[in-house]
Parts: sequence; C-alpha cells; structure tokens
Amino acid sequence: MGRISPVSAAPTLRIAEIFGPTIQGEGVLIGEPTVFVRAGGCDYRCVWCDTLHAVESRFRDEWAPLSTEAVWAEVVALSGGRALTVSLSGGNPAIQPFGPLIARGRAEGYRFALETQGSLARPWFAELSTLVLSPKPPSSRMETDWSALDDCLKAAGAGPRVVLKFIVFDQADYEYARDAAARYPRLPVYLQPGNHTPPPPEAEDAPIDIDGLMERMRWLVDRVIEDRWFEAHVLPQLHVLIWGNRRGV
Ligand code: SF4
Repeated sequence: MGRISPVSAAPTLRIAEIFGPTIQGEGVLIGEPTVFVRAGGCDYRCVWCDTLHAVESRFRDEWAPLSTEAVWAEVVALSGGRALTVSLSGGNPAIQPFGPLIARGRAEGYRFALETQGSLARPWFAELSTLVLSPKPPSSRMETDWSALDDCLKAAGAGPRVVLKFIVFDQADYEYARDAAARYPRLPVYLQPGNHTPPPPEAEDAPIDIDGLMERMRWLVDRVIEDRWFEAHVLPQLHVLIWGNRRGV
C-alpha cells in the first residue's frame, strides 16, 4: 500500500450517482469490472444525451455534495476494499476537482478511467490510467473546440493510455470521426452506434429500440470494412443490450 494522501472532508464534489461494481459497457475497457462515479453537471447539451439526469441543472438538487473522503469511502465499500477500475463519468467529470480522489485511490492500487468530450483540460489527467476523449459529432449539435482537445492531450502527457471514442448516428458523424481520427493518428479509435432512444431523465425504464441499434451497428461495421479502416474498433453499448436504459447497472 502506498502513502495515503491527506484529503478534505469538506464537500467539494457534486455526485449524481455512485454504483457498481458492474462491467464497463463500452469502449476500450468494455467488460472490465468497474465502480462508476458519475459527476453532476456538463458544459455541453448534446441533443441525444443519455445521461440528462447528470446534466441538466433542474436535477442539481439530486446531486449530492460530497467530500473526496466520502466518495472514496463509498468506492471502498462497493469494491470491498479490493482495488479495481473506477470510472469517472458524467456529465463532464472534468468540471469537478477529482485530483484528490485519484491520488487517494491510486495510493491503494485503484486505477482511474475518465471519459470526457475534451472541452476542459485538467492537470490531474496525467494521473489517470485511461483517458477517453469523446468529441461530439455533428448530430449532437455541439461544436468541437479542437484546441481544447489538444490541451487535454497535453495535460495527460505520457501518463494515461489515451483513446478516442466516437458516437456515430449517421454518415456526417462517421465522416467527422474519420477526420478527427486523422488529426490524432497515434490514438486508438473506438466507434459506437448512438442510442436513438435515450432515456428521458424521469423514466429510466423507457423502452429501447434494440433492433434499431443493431441495424445501426451493422451499418457502422459495413462502413468501416468498406473503407478498409482497419485501425478502428466498432463496439455496441454492452450495458444497453443487457439492461436497456436502466441506471446503476
Ligand atoms: S457531453 Fe456527454 S454528458 Fe454532456 S451533454 Fe453531451 S452526451 Fe451528455
């Protein structure tokens, strides 16, 4: 066990939910047992966001103000004190001060992964084990700030493994992913069909169009193979296939 960093007991984090262990359902860590810490708040408003309960300010009262120590205690309780991967998600987890939590967990052998759209760089990105940069394609109706994404990469430095993940709904999104991947030729690329039936925040058990998702998955595989884009990985959202739109699984 490493040296334990002192952490504040004052609430500094706004947390929408902490749950697990369950498996990571998407991207480079798919299938890996993980505890999730979902931050509340996001600087984006993607039209197809599937975690609006952790984005829209009308849910702010539901985001618990917690100290780093309180979040850490919950992670330890859920994991039974056995070091595993902790995924920092959101919302955009980069808007919250997660540096002390990462230092606390790393000292005890835990690994931290973070997924962000890449709009805000933080020095503590360098302490992650995995940084997933997921710039949002045209269908989100958001504009990508490429210099901010560059800053995220600089902040990560040689610390974590960095990968790109793209949600793809249509041809324009696919072309965006190709162009973005060409900007960062050294980064592994993960493509994921978008969920066109995202849960309304008030109804997590809303029906989901699995057939439609599979159709989009087949289309995406076909595009990648036709284009001979052999560097790309194409994956579904495994948790959606298993549990639909349910939260906390
Ligand atoms: S960046 Fe992510 S969390 Fe934020 S609105 Fe877009 S999809 Fe939702």
